Amino acid sequence: MANELYYTRRKREDLRELFRGSCTAVGQRAVLARKVFSAQASNLRSNEREKREDLNLGILRQATTDGAQLILNVRRESTVIMENDTRAYTFDAAGRLVGVFLDGKNYRRSLDNRILVKQSGARKGLAGRLRRMLTPAEVHELETRAYAFAREILARFATPLDAEFRDALAWIDTYDAARLERERVQFQTLYRPVSILPPDQYLALYLQATEGCSYNECSFCGLYRDRRFHAKSVAEFRQHIENVRAFFGDGISLRRTIFLGDANALMLPQARLVERFDAVNAAFEIMPRNLSGAARRAWADAHPIHFHGIYSFIDAFTTKRKSVQDFAALAERGLRRVYIGLESGDPALLEFLGKPNRPEDVIALVKHLKASGVAVGIIILIGAGGMEYQAGHIRETANLVNALGLDSNDLIYFSELVDYPGSTYAEYARQAGLHALSAQEMQAQQAQMRAGFVLGDAKHAPKISYYDLREFVY
Ligand code: SF4
Repeated sequence: MANELYYTRRKREDLRELFRGSCTAVGQRAVLARKVFSAQASNLRSNEREKREDLNLGILRQATTDGAQLILNVRRESTVIMENDTRAYTFDAAGRLVGVFLDGKNYRRSLDNRILVKQSGARKGLAGRLRRMLTPAEVHELETRAYAFAREILARFATPLDAEFRDALAWIDTYDAARLERERVQFQTLYRPVSILPPDQYLALYLQATEGCSYNECSFCGLYRDRRFHAKSVAEFRQHIENVRAFFGDGISLRRTIFLGDANALMLPQARLVERFDAVNAAFEIMPRNLSGAARRAWADAHPIHFHGIYSFIDAFTTKRKSVQDFAALAERGLRRVYIGLESGDPALLEFLGKPNRPEDVIALVKHLKASGVAVGIIILIGAGGMEYQAGHIRETANLVNALGLDSNDLIYFSELVDYPGSTYAEYARQAGLHALSAQEMQAQQAQMRAGFVLGDAKHAPKISYYDLREFVY
């Protein structure tokens, strides 16, 4: 086989550039791969870290005589194996399949061994994407194909891989679909289900300090109906951290942040909360805040395996007693951003939804958080209350968002109302004679709300994005 072999070893930045260059023409594949490559290294045990720090990252590219382009990109946190524009398989450093791009479709695999497939739909934008969960038989077939592909591609490289590459890819002979299925059982003993994360936290390391929601009665929300609220003792939580670490193994390096679950872990009394933050800090290295430029790079070089911070959901009704000093103490321990289910700024709609806070509670909470140096992610429920509440929802939500003093550290998410089987929302809506919004009407509602935002210039305004509960897998 008269192959042309490019063997490249470079520093991380050079590699990223090189990979970008190789992908500019391949559309979605590049998007998928960049998403994985941008993941930051995270923490490992010291003996593991020593091993991983010595890993020399590299890309192998090879053109075969039949015109195929093979690319093998081995990084600390992941390996991507690609052929042409049509196939890309991504594995974490332990060897678990995490993502696939195949024939124009993106597949995301969860740790409980489900696979979500997404592709563009007739309706434009993220909200119009088509998605479905593969059946167990399809999951098995795709995973079997992925590992067979990885072995085949490695065998097609003309020059034998050197020892470092072989070490980094040792999983190739030990992972298969059956092992991923066994891990599903392990994963399910580790967590009550990981029900949801904000989209920017999909690659977080999830630590379940509490289970469920202490309120659990909002009519539109079925995320935690399957469990009673439970706060782990600090001993239980420390054990949970160790179990999580053992489960992830080398694959922990794909995780860039820590997310403290479930729905309202931050409602714990301050002293207990500080204990749990201290437990996280004892186990993992968290980048100090306010580092930038050279100081940030120097810290990252000195701590090649680290997390960017701790993140969590918060609500405006269980945290009324928390002061600026309380949040500042958590910020000192790594808390960087919290996500608030605002849903709406309209008090009448909040009451209809069964959300037990008033708009002014959210204003007070955000004020405390931002004064303590913690950023916020605000989640707005599009379509809530149907046509009947629409005018008030648009007007009052825009007014409330404008009163929060958001900046470029903050996020705004639009999340469409998703009805779940047997929801109380559906029953209340039926009784109230509400008319649900169509997909186009939801889009129009978002657009009208955005038109009412006054958020400053592009440089200082929060990012606005779309949040679809149906696309979440962990
Ligand atoms: S929306 Fe939030 S507060 Fe309401 S039930 Fe769901 S998790 Fe709990």
